[in-house]
This record gives sequence, C-alpha cells and structure tokens, in this order.
Amino acid sequence: MSAPSSRDAAELYEHFKVLDQPEMYSESGCADIEGLVAEIGRLKEECDATILAHNYQRPEIFEVADVVGDSLELAKLGRDVSQSTIVLCGVHFMAETAKIMSPEKRVLIPDARAGCSLAESCDADDLVERRDELRQIYPDLKVVSYVNTTAAVKAVTDVCCTSSNALKVVDSIDSNNILFCPDRNLAAYVASNTDKNIIAWDGDCYVHQQIRPEELRKVRAIRPDIKIIVHPECRTDVIDEADAVLSTSGMINYAKSSDSDSFLVVTECGLSDRLMLEAPDKRFYKACQLCKYMKMITLEGTRDALLHGRDEIILSAEVCEAARGSIERMLELS
Ligand code: SF4
Repeated sequence: MSAPSSRDAAELYEHFKVLDQPEMYSESGCADIEGLVAEIGRLKEECDATILAHNYQRPEIFEVADVVGDSLELAKLGRDVSQSTIVLCGVHFMAETAKIMSPEKRVLIPDARAGCSLAESCDADDLVERRDELRQIYPDLKVVSYVNTTAAVKAVTDVCCTSSNALKVVDSIDSNNILFCPDRNLAAYVASNTDKNIIAWDGDCYVHQQIRPEELRKVRAIRPDIKIIVHPECRTDVIDEADAVLSTSGMINYAKSSDSDSFLVVTECGLSDRLMLEAPDKRFYKACQLCKYMKMITLEGTRDALLHGRDEIILSAEVCEAARGSIERMLELS
C-alpha cells in the first residue's frame, strides 16, 4: 500500500480541523513543519533510506513516509525494499520485524522507547515454559504469536499472525491445539470463529482494552445509520457491537468501498487520520484512544534518526533466523 499523496499545508489543515486536532495542524502549524518535511526528504536520498510508517502514526509522519500500512504490509515491505536503510516509524517490535526480514539492512527507529504493552506482556522464556507444560497434555500443540511480540518470542513461535490473517493462520496450521499469544482479546475473537482449541496468553493492548461498549451504544442511539468498525484487539463486549471486525488496513478498504458515508472508528486514534486522507469524501467519528508509544515517533526524531544513524536495531543472527522462519510461515499461509 502506498503512502497518501502529498498534500499542501492548507489542504492538510482542511482535513485535520474537522478532527479537532491540536494547534500543530492549524494552517500556520502545517507551514512550520514544511521545512522539516523537506529536510527529511533530502536526508532520505543522501542515506539511501526508505521510511515505513504504521497506520497509527501522527499525520505529519504520513507526509514523509514512502509507505504507510499495517503490520503485515510493513513485514512484507521490510523484505522487499531496495534501499540499504529502513527507518521504521512505528513501535519497537515493528522495527525488529523489519530487521528480521532484512538482516543485511540497517534498520533505525526514531525513538527506541516506543514499545508496546502487548509485546511486553509476553516473555520468551515464560512462553517456552508454558508451551512445554501444555505439550504434556496436547502433544500436537503449536504456538501462534501475533506480530506484536518481541523478536525473542517470534524465535520460539511456530507461526506468526496479524489481526488480518489470524483466523486464516489458525485454520491452516497442522494442529488442533494452539497456544495463541499474547493478546487474549484477539485469541477470543479467533476462538469464536474456529473449531480449533485456542489457549490464550493473558496479554492485552492497553489502548484497545480501555474502549467500552457503552460508548459505542451511545453513538448508535444517536446515529443508527453509522457503521461501527472495530479492531479485534478490543474486548469481546465491544466486538459484539460491531458492524465489522477488521484490521487497520481492512478498515481502510471497508470504508473506501462501503456505500455508507459515516463510520465510527474503534481502534487507536491515528487510524482516523489515515482514513481522512484515504477517503476524504466520508466522515469518520472516533471512539478511540491514543497509543502513547506510537506517538513517541515525531518528525524531529525521524530527522535525527537519519542524521545520526540512531536508534539502530541490533539482533543476533540466531534470533533473526529463527524469528524469520515464523514470519515466513505466516506469509506462506496467508
Ligand atoms: S496500540 Fe496497543 S498493540 Fe498497538 S503499539 Fe500501542 S500498545 Fe501496542
């Protein structure tokens, strides 16, 4: 998926004032960042770099990104890009995934503190211990891990998955018993749509976990015609209120092709910004929360990553190779 076409400051202003964005997206605020955007463009050329950005990033990051996408798209692109340096504007596990897929490339993240509550909820040693216990009961047990995990967890995983292909991966894997980690909400969603035995790891995304069904019901009561699109990292009682349960890229495709003109977007808030750019003729309402980790990535940090070559992702060859196997098996199955 390619980045949204570049818009001038006035046009960006027209888009983001609808979302009541802070002062940064005022006309003068957009004009202020034009110089930084141009500097990053020059540095990309000089450093033979490409910028991959996740859908939850700040709108101004979309302006400097070569590609914007969800975890699966970024995983594939990390493997295929020709540039020698990748700047990953997203959280740490995404930059690790780019390194896993392209170990010969230099992979930079503008702020190494940009972690993820979901990835941090699963430790590789704990996972191995739990897997070995469960294999005493279910000898055929396989581990399926969401891509929101560390490289060390991926290295002890049979097959990775994303929110868009989790069900397909689970249904395709040659085992009836699956330890699904780390997101218990995504595990519950998969379990309700498959005949396989899903044993959930007890992790969650702190952003999606905060969203409550009452908020959605209030909007539905006022706007019965609105389409409610929900990310599967949300709680089960939130998913029950959805018209469609979709990954971030699934939401974009759904909104663009739907006959409806208004949507309640139930995921991290950054996706609403992306949707505004992708489908400017439609209206997007937010029942969302901001991810503090995703918002650690800034234009200044992206410029400094290129300027100073930091923060570089370093992984051992052993972890890289084992983790790559679990991602490649996902790409084959999906
Ligand atoms: S939104 Fe949730 S899953 Fe995504 S990076 Fe933030 S904490 Fe992790």
